[in-house]
Amino acid sequence: MTPVQVCQVGGRFSRCHNPAEHTCQYCGRAFCAAHTDYVADHEAVCTRKRCHAKRVDLEEHLAYRARVAQRNRAGLCGIEGCGPHPGFECSLCLGLFCGEHLRERHYPFQEGRISVERPVSICAHCWERRKIWRVR
Ligand SMILES: [Zn+2]
Ligand SMILES: [Zn+2]
Ligand SMILES: [Zn+2]
Ligand SMILES: [Zn+2]
Repeated sequence: MTPVQVCQVGGRFSRCHNPAEHTCQYCGRAFCAAHTDYVADHEAVCTRKRCHAKRVDLEEHLAYRARVAQRNRAGLCGIEGCGPHPGFECSLCLGLFCGEHLRERHYPFQEGRISVERPVSICAHCWERRKIWRVR
């Protein structure tokens, strides 16, 4: 008989003893029904703060990209309320922006366990996201 995998998400002083039902796609921990933040066909996210933040961020990011794409189709900069003729592309979300709404920055890309900084043209939204996705 194989031992039942126990939930790994509970706090250090409040160990969770429920049987694990899923494995978190972000932190790799097994978690139980009580520690489920989100589970769908190919997704499983535990309730740890950082994992929850990543899931919420992804949803917001998709919404942002949809808004930017809509504005770009109308010939406008991706930023709400900004003007026409966006001439620059964000290296990360591939949205089009005016020169004022895109910055040249050194962005930390994750390559395995190390992070490598590369110069990119990046919109403010993508720049802010790096805090949520950096590994540590
Ligand atoms: Zn997790
Ligand atoms: Zn649990
Ligand atoms: Zn962007
Ligand atoms: Zn703009």
